[in-house]
Amino acid sequence: MTTKSTLTHLECGMCGKAYDANQLINMCPDCNRPLLARYDLQKAALTLTADALRQRSPTLWRYEEVLPVQDRTKMLSLGEGWTPLARAPRLGAAIGCANTWIKDESLNPTGSFKARGLALAVSRAYELGATEISIPSAGNAAGAMSAYAAAAGLGAHVFMPKDVPATFQVECKELGANVTLVDGLINDCGAKAAEGVKKYGWFDVSTLKEPYRLEGKKTMGYELAEQLNWTLPDVIIYPTGGGTGLVGMWKAFDEMEQMGLIGSARPRMVTVQSTGCAPIVRAFDEGAQHAELWQGAKTVADGLRVPVAVGDFLMLEALRKSGGTAVAVTDEELLECTGAVGKYTGIFPAPEGGACLAAQIRLLESGWIQPDEQVVLFNTGTGLKYAHLWA
Ligand SMILES: *Cc1c(COP(=O)(O)O)cnc(C)c1O
Repeated sequence: MTTKSTLTHLECGMCGKAYDANQLINMCPDCNRPLLARYDLQKAALTLTADALRQRSPTLWRYEEVLPVQDRTKMLSLGEGWTPLARAPRLGAAIGCANTWIKDESLNPTGSFKARGLALAVSRAYELGATEISIPSAGNAAGAMSAYAAAAGLGAHVFMPKDVPATFQVECKELGANVTLVDGLINDCGAKAAEGVKKYGWFDVSTLKEPYRLEGKKTMGYELAEQLNWTLPDVIIYPTGGGTGLVGMWKAFDEMEQMGLIGSARPRMVTVQSTGCAPIVRAFDEGAQHAELWQGAKTVADGLRVPVAVGDFLMLEALRKSGGTAVAVTDEELLECTGAVGKYTGIFPAPEGGACLAAQIRLLESGWIQPDEQVVLFNTGTGLKYAHLWA
């Protein structure tokens, strides 16, 4: 049984060259930059309507017209997506921004929004014939990949720095992945994984190095609009590492406008990073198109410890075109705010979720956010995986 996917081709985000989507492919061979999935949006708009969506399953697969998977039997699902978008009245009152909301991604399978991206990347790799997949990761991405690989019965190879907290290692192992601990940083893990790719033909599902994790993450943009009755908030604050979610939501807004689901108004997009690793904040402040490698990256928020990102130019474009900004907060601030989110909302967030609140407080203080504006914070994962930070 085929899906309603209207996927047409892949397009390089840098040079614009088109590629056949019916092949296992990583990045643009000319630019070594991300490939973006393109759809027949006119056709998609015929069936992807606000009315039709009311009848669909409460997972991200409800947007199947604008997702790449063609064969229904290859859609791997553990219940990813369609997470709550909840108003946070006590938190809003405490910080003087009544219209504050939290998109709570901690309810995804494996406890983080990495499940969205990996559900798509693994489903599509499975559909296109991959049998073994690999990832260098310091945490949530590896767990999510292991889960979807297990669902499909694919071989999973995870490369982690050896100092990764036990929770993340155990999760991957118990989900059946082969875990290799590397004496080094995430880029050393990347090099080790690349050896296996070359030697054994594994398919690499690193962030933005294959086209479909972005497609999974973009569904956060669709959900926000649908949950706000086809409007968008004034401001979105997003804890940024590789930037898949930021770039993905920006892509989703464009697709939705082309399908007539929303108008041309856009939220101001805000990147928050840690002062221990803030390459995008630095590049934004300098007016640069690309972000240089951040030396000695260090932060307790693992998801933000990404010293260099292949999608840097796409993130910077989304921030600038939206009239957004980029903020670096200290680890002390983000940890303190992690507790504040918990105490004022009942959601126990990942430290990356705490970082969003820290950025919101800064931007309220500076007047960049007005007290009556509608602000959505992304809690990208569950605090339960980070108990070691408080132990
Ligand atoms: C990966 C991760 C991030 C960063 O996400 P990107 O879309 O890659 O920028 C933020 N928070 C958590 C909990 C993560 O696991």
